[in-house]
Amino acid sequence: MFIDGGPNHVTLVVAVFIMPNRASHPIAIAGQAAALLAATLIVLPGVLSAHVRHRAVRPPRPTLSVDMNTRLLIVSPHPDDEVLAAGGLMQHLRAAHGTLRVVYLTDGEGYREGVQVEEHVASPTASNYRAYGRQRTREAHRALRVLGFGPESLTFLGFPNGGLNRMMTTYWSERRNPYRSPYSRLDRPTRSEIVVPRTLFRGEDLSQELATIIGDFAPTMVLVPRKEDQHGDHCAAWFFLADALGDVRRLHPDRDIDLVSYIVHYYSWPFEDDRPRIEPPEGLRGGVSGWLNVPLTATETRIKRAALAQYKSQMDVMGWFLEGFARRNELFSRPAAPLVAMPVRRSPCDDD
Ligand SMILES: [Zn+2]
Repeated sequence: MFIDGGPNHVTLVVAVFIMPNRASHPIAIAGQAAALLAATLIVLPGVLSAHVRHRAVRPPRPTLSVDMNTRLLIVSPHPDDEVLAAGGLMQHLRAAHGTLRVVYLTDGEGYREGVQVEEHVASPTASNYRAYGRQRTREAHRALRVLGFGPESLTFLGFPNGGLNRMMTTYWSERRNPYRSPYSRLDRPTRSEIVVPRTLFRGEDLSQELATIIGDFAPTMVLVPRKEDQHGDHCAAWFFLADALGDVRRLHPDRDIDLVSYIVHYYSWPFEDDRPRIEPPEGLRGGVSGWLNVPLTATETRIKRAALAQYKSQMDVMGWFLEGFARRNELFSRPAAPLVAMPVRRSPCDDD
């Protein structure tokens, strides 16, 4: 376990709730605290019986399903979010002979604690961060292979891990220099990752790349993080996708896209308990559709766990977090129609 001792990590328990700075999944440092908290909640009889009573009267949730005509595009802020949120749904898509495209906004290169472990260095350099990002992209290929998808299903945009939030505000347009990652020291994606020529680390460039991909791929369904996700990159992903969809709808007003959202980082969710099925986060509504359930068989859960295990760089430092999502269901919701005008003066997302 790694603790950087910075001002955002005053204590372990606080870190669980105030959420990340910088890294792709830094709440890993609070793992034991979260487990402890979960254990405490589980043994509180009042809490448990209230849950049981609540569950007994709840009607079954509607199911999110896919078929052979589904063209599913998943917006994944970092390599592993796609499997955490939808490793089961992707298996359903594969079984139905639907089509998949996962768009990774960043390579997840800015996770200092992870780089320290994988690169065996106490003070990572830009070169270490870049190597770590490349490792995570290789892991993504392996994970999707486990789920039955080849390299044609993966697109890496190479935008800066921990920097998406600031690209919604300060670093939106060409009126100033592009954002430069404090980790990789880059100010643009690597050549192999550029979709639209002359793309730099600017918000409008990311939005344009997303719109181009969506225009070309013509998805029938798009999965994207909820804006309430407490990781800045995840929350920002929602706003960039919403902005890009506005462009797509202007060009292709006839296209019908089912917009579905998922959540990965929300307080201590889903670690309030270790039941086989994940319940929605307390206090978060299921959008216009109500929460949508995707039930997984035992075999599908096992395969999802096997796909997550391909993310060795993440399993090494936060295996408990990844495995907590490998249960007998996945949950999604449909957001209200996005009304987003970018850039924004002040980011609605938690800062990184
Ligand atoms: Zn993530």
